[in-house]
Amino acid sequence: MKEIYTLADLRSWKKSVKHPVRLGVFGDPVAHSLSPPMQNAALEQCRIDVRYARFQVAPAELADALDLCRKHDFVGVNLTLPHKIAALGLVDDADANAKRAGGINTIKIEGGRLHGFNTDGKGFARAIREEFSVDLRDLRVLILGAGGASRAIALQCAREHCERMVIANRTFEKAKALADDLREFFVGPKVLGPAPRLQAIPWEESAFRFQMGHIDLIVNATPVGLDRRNTPPIPARILEPHLMIYDTIYTSDRTPMVTAGLEAGARAVNGLSMLLHQGALAFEIWFDREAPIAEMKKALLES
Ligand code: NAP
Repeated sequence: MKEIYTLADLRSWKKSVKHPVRLGVFGDPVAHSLSPPMQNAALEQCRIDVRYARFQVAPAELADALDLCRKHDFVGVNLTLPHKIAALGLVDDADANAKRAGGINTIKIEGGRLHGFNTDGKGFARAIREEFSVDLRDLRVLILGAGGASRAIALQCAREHCERMVIANRTFEKAKALADDLREFFVGPKVLGPAPRLQAIPWEESAFRFQMGHIDLIVNATPVGLDRRNTPPIPARILEPHLMIYDTIYTSDRTPMVTAGLEAGARAVNGLSMLLHQGALAFEIWFDREAPIAEMKKALLES
């Protein structure tokens, strides 16, 4: 199996007899993806004679690459940056959750048809339960970012009736648009004093500072911190010890946001558990069976 496949490889695809590659992740870039070791550990554990690989696919190549997967009888694919939104327009159908999330991270191929799903939101909910032993419905949540991951996370928080949700984004209009889109979930009777149940706020220290007493969970769903030299999206000096901090970035153990949270005496973890659970949910969609979570987690920790 190659380290990274391309569209050219898919065009001259020769299906190997032993351990054929019939699953993969499409991204641009894709070299950093930890999905192959995690999914291959699951496939081996379940004795499924199929392998999962990385595919370097540029945006202009996505439609052709998906068509070739259909032709070569793939089981399915995952989509990562920047393909999640474009892929939604290329599948034959998508479930209601994926349509509402506005993007897909998982495709199942059956009978030559591409079916789209988004497991990021549910994967996030499972991760929060596992890391902090709480359910989203009990939490007041501040989400940093209003891109694809934030949208899936915000939708999940809304669906699970979280107590309060605040969205902060560098481009304020996008935070406002996302909050407005989810307003229907927040019209219920929960009343929590003076702070509104649903709010979009500007990306400013004073706005963050004001929220700290009214928030339980902060989620970083921006790429700020992918480079360990970045300053954290919210500085340690305004974080408080009662907070739970979840950084969706998983490239390093202690991201800048995690370090800031721990410095402030809060509980803080990186996004490895979300990666694990969105991957386990994708495996369950492809094979209609429970994913071997323990093996997948072990493979991730060893990668
Ligand atoms: P995206 O759609 O491109 O959105 C990026 C968001 O980050 C936007 O809201 C953008 O704000 C904001 N942003 C970018 N650079 C910023 C900066 N320098 N300062 C402040 N805000 C900035 O990306 P995405 O798909 O949502 O992915 C976001 C992150 O989620 C990725 O880094 C990825 O690691 C993580 N993720 C993790 C998992 C997991 O399983 N753990 C799954 C999915 C995603 P503007 O609107 O102003 O541009």
